[in-house]
Amino acid sequence: MNPFLTVIPVQNQSLKRASLEVLSRTVELANEKGTTADVLLLGAQPETFSQLVASHGADRVFLVGNSLLNQHLNTPLLKAILMAIDSIHPSLVSFASNESTKDILGALSAALGSPALPDVASFWIEGDKVCVKRPVMAAKILANVKALFPNSGQKKPVLVSVRSGSYEVVERAGRGEKNVLEFAFDEGTLRQTLREVVKATAGTVDLAEAEVIVAAGRGVKDDEGKRLISELASLFNAGIGASRALTESGAYDPSVQIGQTGKVVSPQLYFAVGISGAIQHVAGMSNSKVIVAINKDPDAPIFEVADYGLVGDLYQILPALIQEIKAIKG
Ligand SMILES: Cc1cc2nc3c(=O)[nH]c(=O)nc-3n(C[C@H](O)[C@H](O)[C@H](O)COP(=O)(O)OP(=O)(O)OC[C@H]3O[C@@H](n4cnc5c(N)ncnc54)[C@H](O)[C@@H]3O)c2cc1C
Repeated sequence: MNPFLTVIPVQNQSLKRASLEVLSRTVELANEKGTTADVLLLGAQPETFSQLVASHGADRVFLVGNSLLNQHLNTPLLKAILMAIDSIHPSLVSFASNESTKDILGALSAALGSPALPDVASFWIEGDKVCVKRPVMAAKILANVKALFPNSGQKKPVLVSVRSGSYEVVERAGRGEKNVLEFAFDEGTLRQTLREVVKATAGTVDLAEAEVIVAAGRGVKDDEGKRLISELASLFNAGIGASRALTESGAYDPSVQIGQTGKVVSPQLYFAVGISGAIQHVAGMSNSKVIVAINKDPDAPIFEVADYGLVGDLYQILPALIQEIKAIKG
């Protein structure tokens, strides 16, 4: 079987944990199938991360360096990935599912004539098929989808993008054999210009990578409620998220909305504070490892997905919880 390839863009000299999760799973499957686990690192100076991916099982590390790849620009990124696929001939190409991947996966699939399995919660191989489970209908149900591997010699790898938090990061030594791929891109042909990246949440914890998230809902009614949310978050160095009710009201920035039309997150610990648990919210946080819900309504649907439920007024529960956590932390 042709190699399995994990595509990892290195943007602003940082590599996301989600990429290592996908790599760990892809290496596991490559070992199972007796094929090579390759990594394609793209960025301004991707070689900085070659040792890291080798220590997560990469047999061969393909490096495409170009300053245009330092931030997400779909035309050069697409061209670089197509060039690499043409030279590596993988049978499976895996990505972490994020905004950047969503921007290019359809175009890649069309350019290659490949089947694309986007935003999956798990993937495995059965005979000549790649099988996945995909959350659909706002994650209310999981769809089983299968795609045929290409016949040998065909340049049509199966493309899979994987939700963050779906797999553990596993360290294992790979050969880490480095291969530099030459990539030239005429900047003059670019029909889009990246003028500025506006970080609305500058200085705060990135929700996509956060180990702990404290999320506020409509039950958080005023500045005192927001202060309590921030204080709880600061105890865990947590990211702060919000339901759509609070981003629409302007209480929180739209960039921190969690859910179907917001961010999909998968922290180790998720506090849902004053959030009812509407299906559209749960679609974005149900992958969290441990969910703690605080709500005064014992019948709130959030308790159906919560591991721990605290029924009561958040304005009484949060101060007590904060005090207790501070005491434990000493
Ligand atoms: C197409 C579409 C897409 C959507 N996408 C999203 C999305 O991405 N993310 C999202 O979040 N929503 C989304 N929504 C909106 C979603 O349906 C809900 O309306 C929203 O999630 C409700 O937010 P909430 O839980 O904060 O508010 P509410 O549903 O009003 O719940 C507030 C909760 O706070 C509790 N509460 C009130 N006071 C207190 C108190 N003092 N102490 C403790 N508990 C208290 C109440 O019991 C209640 O359960 C979408 C809707 C649609 C139609």
